[in-house]
Amino acid sequence: TCGICVEKCPFDAIEIINLPQELTEDPTHRYGENAFGLYGLPVPEPGKVTGILGPNGIGKSTAVRILAEEITPNLGDYGADPDWETVLDRYRGTELQNYIERLMDGDIEVARKPQYVDQIPKQFDGKTRELLEHTDERGQLDYLVDELSIAPVMDQAIDSISGGELQRVALAATLARDADFYFLDEITPYLDIGQRVKAARLIQELAEDDEDRSMLVVEHDLAILDLLTDTLHIAYGEPSAFGVVTPPKSVRNGINEYLKGYLTNENMRIRPSAITFEQHAPRETAKSAPLVEYPDLSKSYGDGEFSLDVEGGTIHHGEVLGVVGPNGIGKSTLAKMFAGQLEPDEGELDFLLDIAYKPQYIEIDQPMRVDVFLSSITDDFGSSYWNTEVAQPLQLNRIMEQNLTDLSGGERQRVAIAACLSKDADLYVLDEPSAHLDVEQRVQATTAIRRYAENHDATVLVIDHDIYMIDLLADRLMVFDGEPAEHGHASMPQEMRAGMNDFLSDLEITFRRDERTGRPRINKPGSQLDREQKKQGEYYYAP
Ligand code: ADP
Ligand code: ADP
Ligand code: MG
Repeated sequence: TCGICVEKCPFDAIEIINLPQELTEDPTHRYGENAFGLYGLPVPEPGKVTGILGPNGIGKSTAVRILAEEITPNLGDYGADPDWETVLDRYRGTELQNYIERLMDGDIEVARKPQYVDQIPKQFDGKTRELLEHTDERGQLDYLVDELSIAPVMDQAIDSISGGELQRVALAATLARDADFYFLDEITPYLDIGQRVKAARLIQELAEDDEDRSMLVVEHDLAILDLLTDTLHIAYGEPSAFGVVTPPKSVRNGINEYLKGYLTNENMRIRPSAITFEQHAPRETAKSAPLVEYPDLSKSYGDGEFSLDVEGGTIHHGEVLGVVGPNGIGKSTLAKMFAGQLEPDEGELDFLLDIAYKPQYIEIDQPMRVDVFLSSITDDFGSSYWNTEVAQPLQLNRIMEQNLTDLSGGERQRVAIAACLSKDADLYVLDEPSAHLDVEQRVQATTAIRRYAENHDATVLVIDHDIYMIDLLADRLMVFDGEPAEHGHASMPQEMRAGMNDFLSDLEITFRRDERTGRPRINKPGSQLDREQKKQGEYYYAP
């Protein structure tokens, strides 16, 4: 071995062209003998938002704990007592020198938004207002509460509010602090697209507001990461063995290289195949035979607290229908009606379809092993075909022997997607498959769903807030609008262009295309392209 590898050469997993320069040097930090090693560090830049793009388990939190002075990096010498003087020597003359000097002077105050907001109620017992007032160091709380629409839950107990509300409260609590270094570990979970864009703008505002503030963000929604950050580090490696944080790249190049699966400066292939977007004509599939035609439907809860109206329409055989719209607008309600779990008040769904349904909130309470569970669903379990098409892209092999009840959110999501796709059904309904997945798992899950649909002529309905996932998956679009938690309206399925225009005009967001790759990028509001496209009514497929 070369001294990096422990049990097995980690490079098996990566098709390596040259040994990356970073790995021939000592790591920044190693947890112990045969333990995880981190190479490189992100560089917080004053007045800027820096992003880290990469899968989980690759050392992003370790890097942040170093920058927050919680870990003194040992530079690979895990036996010795590390000290910051030595670290400073190592980074003298690099972009990190200044930051490390300030850190050693005790000049750096850190504010941090944790990744798993669901844990907050376990640590804080009280009302939203109490939590937020506690962090209001800049006198900006009213503004943040207003911008993030938190007012309705201010007097609710923290343990009674929804995931999306908790995420916005956590963002407000972090951004209300008066710090030098802000670290936001994922900003989009549980948020819809409008809320994601709003959160991104607030973070940018805070960075621009003070030249000494640095923001560091980990984010798996690529459209938002692209919008939000000024520079980008890619993190790659072998989860739980080693991770490499590249030097900063431009956001555009960083995301393009990531999607391409090849890092140019590092001469490093991180994925066998590239992810590509169709720039112009959206796929046309509306010509295939109808799978179902459904009438106008309506459904309300309680005594009309929330009501949903659905325009009748047709779902075609073999198409992937994307479903988009804000939170609380009735998307899951429609999915449940299609799945036969909920009766419409008006309109009848009398189709005799077998539906495979992955709900938004996955409840698994059987103490059963993943492999036992999945083999009870399909006879194909374990076949080389099933392994290639389902298990491998969803990274199930490592968790086959675990109990369903012990899985993390992302692991549970992948098992649930696999279970849904493994069923023999006429219509596959996937409610928010991107939730809890890191960026690489999203890319893989998207590929698996798309391939499955094509190879099986399967008809799929995908509800999601990740616009790249929807773009890569959907042939047509169903758009929800209305007033969240009051009333919702669902359009009939539309062609992609019309559907995106319908959806994005409500949000007042336009996309341009990256010249080199055709990748969609959110326009700066009020920019020339933004204004032109709005005038032409072309929000997504700009001419
Ligand atoms: P990420 O934030 O990218 O998900 P982390 O920095 O949390 O990654 O973890 C990277 C790797 O380091 C993981 O394999 C984790 O198990 C390991 N690790 C984290 N903390 C410790 C620790 N205190 N001791 C040993 N290993 C650790
Ligand atoms: P989405 O999936 O678009 O976020 P949902 O269909 O889950 O929206 O919910 C739409 C609205 O209906 C929300 O205001 C939600 O609180 C309410 N709602 C959902 N399920 C029920 C229920 N079983 N009883 C009462 N209200 C409900
Ligand atoms: Mg929902």
